[in-house]
Amino acid sequence: MRTIIEPFRIKSVEPIRMTTPAERAGAIEAAGYNVFLLPARDVLIDLLTDSGTGAMSAQQWAGMMQGDESYAGSDSWYRFEQAVKDIFGFAHVIPTHQGRAAERILFSVMCKAGQVVPNNAHFDTTRANIEFTGAQALDLPCEEARELAQSHPFKGNIDLAALERVLETRGGQVPLAMMTVTNNAGGGQPVSMANIRAVSQLCRAHQVPFYIDACRFAENAYFVQQREAGYRDKSLIDIAREMFSYADGCTMSAKKDGMANIGGFLATNDALLAAQQRDLLILTEGFPTYGGLAGRDLEAIAVGLHEALQQDYQNYRAVSTAYLGNNIAQAGVPIMQPPGGHAIYIDAAKFYPHISPLEFPGIALTVDLYRHAGIRAVEVGSVMFGAKDAAGNPTAARNELVRLAVPRRVYTQSHIDYVVEAIVEVFAQRGAARGYRITEQPAFLRHFSARFAPL
Ligand SMILES: *Cc1c(COP(=O)(O)O)cnc(C)c1O
Repeated sequence: MRTIIEPFRIKSVEPIRMTTPAERAGAIEAAGYNVFLLPARDVLIDLLTDSGTGAMSAQQWAGMMQGDESYAGSDSWYRFEQAVKDIFGFAHVIPTHQGRAAERILFSVMCKAGQVVPNNAHFDTTRANIEFTGAQALDLPCEEARELAQSHPFKGNIDLAALERVLETRGGQVPLAMMTVTNNAGGGQPVSMANIRAVSQLCRAHQVPFYIDACRFAENAYFVQQREAGYRDKSLIDIAREMFSYADGCTMSAKKDGMANIGGFLATNDALLAAQQRDLLILTEGFPTYGGLAGRDLEAIAVGLHEALQQDYQNYRAVSTAYLGNNIAQAGVPIMQPPGGHAIYIDAAKFYPHISPLEFPGIALTVDLYRHAGIRAVEVGSVMFGAKDAAGNPTAARNELVRLAVPRRVYTQSHIDYVVEAIVEVFAQRGAARGYRITEQPAFLRHFSARFAPL
């Protein structure tokens, strides 16, 4: 069959609320033209993030009922630990309330000022947690990642030659190297097994520990299976196991391919590090058999990690995300190619070429998508990543993107058809769009709370 369907039927529904154009115009103005400040009840289709926004399965809900809320050594903890070890294979597993808690603990133990941590591309919380220790977070994306519109099967790869140079010239200052799979900051693009294997060999040759940021490990395993020679007949779980066999540990946000609404973990093969990490865990997260999670959360994750590796689920996931990207691209909308695993990125600088980067074409597009159709997307451009030059003047980010992240198992094809129609209509009226200026902004992470006014 040519048609790939949602591999589930719906047992429980959550109404979404239609609004009028006048209501939306009022809501976005009241939100200072920042979609982060919109009440979710005023949003019809929410593509702000795929993090913690997925739908759980009947199996996961059944697991929640079995949650053992014992403070120490609960049954749920043992099931969680077993699921993580079965897939990831690391000797020590440390539960955390979400991915960034795992990052904070890992980097607090391993990094200090003056050191450098290379990665294909650091996710924003990863970067922030490394920089908080005084170390530098260094992005080394491959050459192919630079061309937005150019397709390549593994645009998430790290630049191996650049990594080798860093290890050779600054090896003593590299406490660990990382790889993010899939590469979130780079557009949800996958990393090849060959690239992971090569990084592992380089790190071992230089005696540098190698950790994987595993948030979308199952999506990455699927892309390896579909795109890399020699993996077509392998199961997703075997591909995942091979991926992690090359690493010394990982950080994970279970809000992504854990298929849960909250949770995460840190895993390592190093017993000494694990002991130090558990000491820190107790300080802020909780006892090492729950790490800030309820027993029921541990159950949901234990089931979800295996569900993310089901072949039918990943077929549907990749095809439905690409369906959105391919349909708008066919109508002429400029997107990052190829479509990523969890999101589609629109090139807002090309969508609105008459709006200059520092007049925020990405903000203009998120406002227009919301006003036109109640869709919430997110700017990934000069508001999120803009900086200041030596004289204190604002500088633009490298790209002006708008991300449409697809929550797991939440929206059906007709929802996506509606999104496609809305984007194509907004594109048809693109000449009328105007830029924005910032009226208020905080000192850090300004995209969450800045306010804007139309120019
Ligand atoms: C979401 C994410 C994180 C952080 O996880 P949280 O659960 O949001 O704290 C880290 N790395 C990547 C690649 C992510 O996508």
